[in-house]
Amino acid sequence: MKKEEVWQGVLADLEVSLSRVNFSTWIKPIKLKEVRAVGGRLVAEIGVPSGFYQQMLERRYQGQIQAALERLLGQETEVVFKVTGEELGGGDNSPLFATAQNPPNGQRDRKKRGFLNPRLTFENFVVGSSNNLAHAAAQGIVQNPGRKYNPLFIYGGVGLGKTHLMHAIGHALLDKYPEFTILYISAEKFVNDLIDSLKSKKTTTFKKKYRSCDVLLVDDIQFISGKETTQEEFFHTFNELYMSERQIILTSDRPPDEIPRIEERLSSRFMGGLTVDIQPPDFEMRVGILQQKAKEMGVVVEQRSLEMIAEKVTSNVRELEGVFRKIVAMAETRGGRVERELVREFLGKKEEGRIRKIRPSSVIAKTAKYYGLSSSDLKGKSRKAPVVAARHAAMYLLKTELGIPYMRIGDLFGGRDHTTVMHGVEKIEEMRKTSPQIRQNLEEIKDLILA
Ligand code: ADP
Ligand code: MG
Repeated sequence: MKKEEVWQGVLADLEVSLSRVNFSTWIKPIKLKEVRAVGGRLVAEIGVPSGFYQQMLERRYQGQIQAALERLLGQETEVVFKVTGEELGGGDNSPLFATAQNPPNGQRDRKKRGFLNPRLTFENFVVGSSNNLAHAAAQGIVQNPGRKYNPLFIYGGVGLGKTHLMHAIGHALLDKYPEFTILYISAEKFVNDLIDSLKSKKTTTFKKKYRSCDVLLVDDIQFISGKETTQEEFFHTFNELYMSERQIILTSDRPPDEIPRIEERLSSRFMGGLTVDIQPPDFEMRVGILQQKAKEMGVVVEQRSLEMIAEKVTSNVRELEGVFRKIVAMAETRGGRVERELVREFLGKKEEGRIRKIRPSSVIAKTAKYYGLSSSDLKGKSRKAPVVAARHAAMYLLKTELGIPYMRIGDLFGGRDHTTVMHGVEKIEEMRKTSPQIRQNLEEIKDLILA
């Protein structure tokens, strides 16, 4: 088979699986340069107009191009992109196989991605008016890590895609610079790591770990609020990385200067690069996100159903995704498709649930269950940390969701004093501010209560 024929075959294959716009934007301008036999397999070198193309193709279409080539050639084929700087697309008739050369450079170190969630990539990230600045900044970092925006500080409410964007940057950087060491960590884990290293007197190992990476991603940095030792250590880590032009990316639920109890020298460092926010998605974007999720899950859903969900679920992407998953699961148990009727029923139930009078005993029981405990554990006298935490969460939900007075909550918990209840509720309120984990737990308990 001639090279030209092979490429025509690939184009024909991709043309049916891609949208017209994507096909003409990404596939039309590229061209098969040569196919080499290396060892027992083939390496297909594809010429692309620019580094940007290379990146997008690697991220989005490499798998499909590879599959199409393998179907045509009947042999394992590796795809390697090469920037040629020209718009390609013409044809020639040179022979398909060139002689074997050096091994390809496209080998990726899968191990290095261990801590990055493979699902959280740019490919799966829907861009709209609420996040396009953050997205552009993220792309800028991939183009020029360590120099362009350092640090990049991304902030916004819960479930809006901060962690997703951060992982996406990690993946894209590893695609481009396979030799990079990228460290992703939640600030909560950073704190615990530091405490452990202090306890076990292994601070040198700790320092080395965090100061030797090429890119440091710290998620939910607001968590270091009020933690002085951590702030001190992080300050030095930050400086060392920054001075040697290594990229730092931070996320937070609020801008640097609004994080309480944080040293001024740190918050000013955080603002020394680029600070961008992510807003809740508007209606169009919510529909776009649902389309993306349906695609990821491999389910076909009529547009109107997606719109109905997007109309009702407005808070954040995580909730949108959660509701969508539940609806799909419900459709599956009924052996059918996601249809308007079902969506209406589900969304209706959800609303009813919020309004319906929920019994306090059910809040206590469901919260206990969530933590693997019983109602009597929560009402009892145990001072064990997990029991206390669950008890406080239940008190908090009774107060904020059902609006029950402190005194009455005290009665529900075996005659506890109202000030005890107040402290419990305040404690959860404090934790909610800094811990996304807690916020998520509370959401999940609420779901359980409303189920
Ligand atoms: P945050 O870190 O801001 O709390 P996450 O990054 O964890 O939010 O996002 C919550 C969920 O929503 C994840 O499953 C994520 O994949 C999804 N998500 C958020 N933003 C987007 C987006 N723009 N496109 C696609 N999925 C998104
Ligand atoms: Mg997050």
